[in-house]
Amino acid sequence: MPELRRDDAKPKSPDRVMTSTSGAIHDDSGSTDSADDDPDATEDRSDAEPTETALETAQRQLCSVADRIDIDPNVVERLAEPKRVHEVAVPVELDDGSVEVFTGYRAQHDSVRGPYKGGIRYHPEVTRDECVGLGMWMTWKCAVMDIPFGGAKGGVAVDPKSLSDDERERLTRRFTQELRDVIGPNTDIPAPDMGTDPQTMAWLMDAYSMQEGETTPGVVTGKPPSVGGSEGRDAAPGRSVAIITRRAVEYYDDGLEGTSIAVQGYGSVGANAARLLDDWGANVVAVSDVNGGVYDPDGLETRSIPSHDEEPEAVMRQDAPRTVTNDELLELDVDVLVPAAIGNVVTRENASDIQAALVVEGANGPTTSRADEILADRGIPVIPDVLANAGGVTVSYFEWLQDINRRSWSLERVNEELESEMDGAWETVREAYETHEGTWRDAAYVVALSRIADAHEARGLWP
Ligand code: NAD
Repeated sequence: MPELRRDDAKPKSPDRVMTSTSGAIHDDSGSTDSADDDPDATEDRSDAEPTETALETAQRQLCSVADRIDIDPNVVERLAEPKRVHEVAVPVELDDGSVEVFTGYRAQHDSVRGPYKGGIRYHPEVTRDECVGLGMWMTWKCAVMDIPFGGAKGGVAVDPKSLSDDERERLTRRFTQELRDVIGPNTDIPAPDMGTDPQTMAWLMDAYSMQEGETTPGVVTGKPPSVGGSEGRDAAPGRSVAIITRRAVEYYDDGLEGTSIAVQGYGSVGANAARLLDDWGANVVAVSDVNGGVYDPDGLETRSIPSHDEEPEAVMRQDAPRTVTNDELLELDVDVLVPAAIGNVVTRENASDIQAALVVEGANGPTTSRADEILADRGIPVIPDVLANAGGVTVSYFEWLQDINRRSWSLERVNEELESEMDGAWETVREAYETHEGTWRDAAYVVALSRIADAHEARGLWP
């Protein structure tokens, strides 16, 4: 097991010095007590800590970072509100012949750096404000990655599981038609999100193309490869989590070899990240799904554990010396914790009990604001979601490039380019971390906001 260390030469190293004993990193004081929180305000697990809405979080983060950098207050004012929010009625004929009218939204936050980009979700709790908040997050995420897109998010307030495949197809085509004037490969490019999938994106692309009179694959990303989707898109968020985890461990230590890692959530993000980290020499000691997890201090065979997609809820059926609850997994004595399941799992209730020396956010918004503060006070770095899981939007950008150029890339090329983009983003955020006060999350937002502000200043306000 390597010894993890802080680089003494680093200008603003946190208080803790990481030393590894029995497969884990501890702070030098031996204390795990503290002196005293996504683009995705998803599920709230804490009764005691009120969950911020996605919009509240996005606006709070904007104001907090704006205070730290030299930025024109007029630009901040423009960024605090979306450019436009489209609300549409989506009438759908159900299989029994009746008609139900659903409400759909598309919030377009900022496009100063390029076309709007962001997911479309089908979920009963989709609201205007949620779309605005998540759209703002997409603006920051694209800017952190230096992708020439702005931020948007949309959705329909519907339980997709209550609809048949035919009903979902009719809903998607009608929603696309309602948004047709405001989306397009050069204006706003949707993608899958909660409750939508590659098939949904194929219907969206087909509906848009039929009305345009030409096949327009660049109107949407996350499509099946047969209609212009990219190789490597599905695995990209997990791959980026693995790449950023490797960079972060190298920053505080010599490398991944033997580093113990616990991963909550063994779905697309968690399983892809865990398997790559395992391939790269890390010791993945615990993984979980919604039912709980398995723990083996000697390391799990991650490739033989089926992911959520391969066989839902199979984690607990694996042979391992110990099973753990999801709460216990978060508090395991490991080097790196990767929460990759849902939002708001590291809260003010358990942040003082986190023993990992480093947290890398695989899920969107797994750490509440209060937990962020507690972990910062304890010197536990949290590498934020806007950087760590940004592989998804990055490969979406590659998909769009392939679509508009009518040329597909090999999986090898996608993975190489992704690695290069993630490395570049890591270096920029690292530099900001070392030169500004604050956490890794603050540093990522400083990078994002500086780029967006520069673009606003260069373009100016017209008329
Ligand atoms: P997924 O549905 O493929 O997998 C989710 C996993 O988490 C499953 O193993 C499930 O059993 C487990 N899980 C569900 N509820 C849980 C709970 N309460 N406690 C512990 N485990 C639980 O989902 P995914 O695509 O891997 O997404 C995971 C997270 O990453 C979400 O926050 C999502 O918003 C975020 N994310 C996903 C992508 C993407 O493109 N897939 C991109 C960026 C961020």
